[in-house]
Amino acid sequence: MTAAPACGTELHRLPLLILYLSERCNSRCVTCDYWRHGRVDMTFEATVRLLPSLRKLETQVVLLSGGEPLLNPDWERIARLLRDHELKLWLLTSGLSLAKHARRAAQLFDATTVSLDATDRETYAAIRGVDAFNKVCQGIQAMAETSALVSVRVTLQRANFRQLPRFIDLARQLGAWQISFLAVDVGNDHAFGRSGPFNSELALRPDELAELEQLMRSLEREHAADFQSGFIAESPLKLRRIHQYFAALCGAAEFPEVRCNAPEFSAVITAQGHINPCYFIAGLQDSALPEDVDTALNGPRLLAVRDAIRTGARPECARCVCSMWREPGARTVADFWRSRASSHIN
Ligand code: SF4
Ligand code: SF4
Repeated sequence: MTAAPACGTELHRLPLLILYLSERCNSRCVTCDYWRHGRVDMTFEATVRLLPSLRKLETQVVLLSGGEPLLNPDWERIARLLRDHELKLWLLTSGLSLAKHARRAAQLFDATTVSLDATDRETYAAIRGVDAFNKVCQGIQAMAETSALVSVRVTLQRANFRQLPRFIDLARQLGAWQISFLAVDVGNDHAFGRSGPFNSELALRPDELAELEQLMRSLEREHAADFQSGFIAESPLKLRRIHQYFAALCGAAEFPEVRCNAPEFSAVITAQGHINPCYFIAGLQDSALPEDVDTALNGPRLLAVRDAIRTGARPECARCVCSMWREPGARTVADFWRSRASSHIN
């Protein structure tokens, strides 16, 4: 992992906060344990207590995630509170109840990303554990019809990689403004609420790597304009890193180099009030959210964790599928959205 530039260990600005509104979920993904063990929702009162810290930390964007954030019975009240405090809101959802909430969600969220890991009902049910493909597509369409910014996120894995070109067509047909891809995470035992070793058949097998490479080449040729316009969020080079990741899992390549400074400009607060430096690494696991999050972020435990990440001492980083790098001078609202989205929210 490339170390971030030395910029002091304390965090005085936090442009992006990832806030889990619920650790419950209405999906049953094979990659995740939230739906098995999740019980807790973020409360409205805890969110109110967060506000002074967010003001001090000059937070601009709050990404609402989980679990499934729309399962929190107070999601709308919490979203309205954050909006009233001039925060931009980004919803990350499984989309199962999006059709029902589309009108209110469109008013409250500046951007919405829906996880859609299949282009047909059977594959969706196999990956997400629920028969909800049509419902999720209806949710994306309902959001798009309100002119809201809705994008599609695909976690590529063995069960869906052959659908790669179809994902592009489906996202366009549903009215999404963008589609993005990442590789399924099989290297981190504790991500997604998992409580133990994670062994799975999710990653590609050696004899499937050439097929994925071929599909990616075709995509680069046939969808050059979609890469160019940003409709496909990743560059062709970044997409090829997904192939390299699967090849590395098969022992046929090195893992792609990870460049990440996410903990230097963002943090995760879970529904239980834990403060983590990113999705994958635990930080402060106190029983309740501290009164002063800005102080807690610079307490000994989180300083030590961020130092370990910065110096490349955390093994999770070497195989991370979801790293983020932002230049220190470019961490504005627009930096967290692209093209159409950034012009829309500025
Ligand atoms: S991966 Fe996301 S959508 Fe799937 S069960 Fe876990 S929290 Fe829910
Ligand atoms: S685990 Fe991933 S997201 Fe977290 S700091 Fe490391 S590279 Fe970044």
